[in-house]
Amino acid sequence: MSILFYTIVTILVLQFIIETVLDYLNAKRYNDPVPDELSDVFDETEYKKSQAYKKTNYRFGLLTSSFSFLLTLGFLIFGGFEWVDQMVRTVTEQPIPMALMFFGIIMIGSDIITLPFSYYSTFVIEEKFGFNKTTKGTFFMDKIKGWLMIAIVGGLIMSLIIWFFQLAGSYFWVYAWALVAVFTIFMNLFYSKLIVPMFNKQTPLENGSLKTKIEAFAKNVGFELNNIFVIDGSKRSTKANAYFSGFGKEKRVTLYDTLINDLDEEEIVAVLAHEVGHYKKKHIIFNLIASLALTGVTLFVLSLFINNPAVSIAIGVSQPSFHAALIGFAILYSPISEITGLIMNHFSRKFEYQADDYAKDTYAALPLITSLKKLSKNSLSNLTPHPAFVFMHYSHPTLLDRIQNLKR
Ligand SMILES: [Zn+2]
Repeated sequence: MSILFYTIVTILVLQFIIETVLDYLNAKRYNDPVPDELSDVFDETEYKKSQAYKKTNYRFGLLTSSFSFLLTLGFLIFGGFEWVDQMVRTVTEQPIPMALMFFGIIMIGSDIITLPFSYYSTFVIEEKFGFNKTTKGTFFMDKIKGWLMIAIVGGLIMSLIIWFFQLAGSYFWVYAWALVAVFTIFMNLFYSKLIVPMFNKQTPLENGSLKTKIEAFAKNVGFELNNIFVIDGSKRSTKANAYFSGFGKEKRVTLYDTLINDLDEEEIVAVLAHEVGHYKKKHIIFNLIASLALTGVTLFVLSLFINNPAVSIAIGVSQPSFHAALIGFAILYSPISEITGLIMNHFSRKFEYQADDYAKDTYAALPLITSLKKLSKNSLSNLTPHPAFVFMHYSHPTLLDRIQNLKR
C-alpha cells in the first residue's frame, strides 16, 4: 500500500471526526436558553417540537454519516474500486465507456444502498414532524428523474472531459474549464425553464395586490422585473423559499407557494427586497466568477496529477486510468476544497448582511425581521447553534445575528 493510500484513509478519517465533533458540539446547545430577541419565534409547545426534531435529526444524521463513512472506508480498504474496475474492464477497454460505467455503478450502487436512509428521513422523520408532503410515487419518480438527469448531463460532461484529455493531454483542463463555464452560464440562464419544469409546476404570479406591491417596489429601486413565478413547492414540503435566477432579460423571481401562504404581502416584498439586494450588490456575479475561478484552479491542479499513476493506484486499483485518478484526486484535494468552501461561506454570510441592509434601506426592516422569524419557525431551524458549527457550515448568519443587524 502506498503512502498516498494512507493519506486518503487519513483524510477520510479526519473529515469524519471533525464533522462528528462539530455535530456533537452543536447538538449540546439545543437545550440552551433562547435569546430574548427570539423569544416570540416559537411558543413553548412548538419549541419543544422543534428541539425534538433537531435531536431526532442529530441522532439519525450520526447513524447515516457513520454508515456512509464505514461503507466508503470498507469499499476502499477491501478493494471495492479494483473490483468495479475489473468488472468494467471485462466489458470494454475504451476509456470513455469505461469511465461512464465505473462512475455509473459506483453512484447508483451507493444511492441504492443509502436509499433506505433517505426514505426513512422523508417518510418517517419529516412525516412525523409534519413537513413531508411527498407521496411515495413522487419520491421514486424524483429518484429516477434525478438518475436520468445525472446520466445524461453528467455522462455528457464526463465524456467530453475525457475526450479533451485524449486530444490535448495535460492541457485538457483549459477545454474542460471552458466547457464548465459554458455549462454554468447556460444553467444559470435556463435552469428555471428547462430543469425546474421536470420536477415542479411554475405559474406566473396572478394580478392582484401582491403583484402590484412587488412591481411598485421594483420600480422604486429601478429593478426591471417582468417574470414573477409561483412554484408548487408545497407538493414536496411545507418549507418555504424564494430565489432569483438568470440575468438580464432572462432574470426571474420564483416564489414558493408555501411562502405566499405563510407570509403577509409586506413580508414577501421584504424577502424579495433582500433578493434584489443580492442582485444589486453584484453578489450573483461575484459568486459566479468566484466559482468559475475555483473550478479553473481545481482543474489546473487536477491536470498536474492526472497522469501520475500513483494517484490512481492510491484508491487500490491495479491499472491506472483517468477515472481512478479522478477519484483519488477528488479525495486528496478535498481538504483544499474544504478551505475554499470556508472562504466562500464567509463571503456568503457577509453578503447576507449586505442584502438585509439593502432591504432595510430600500424597503423596511420590520417585515423582514418578522418574515425571517416565520421562515425559521416553519423550518424548525436552530435558534442556538454552536459558533464553530456556524463558522464551518453556515452560508447565512444565524437568525439572532441577522435580527440584531436589522435592528441596528
Ligand atoms: Zn440572501
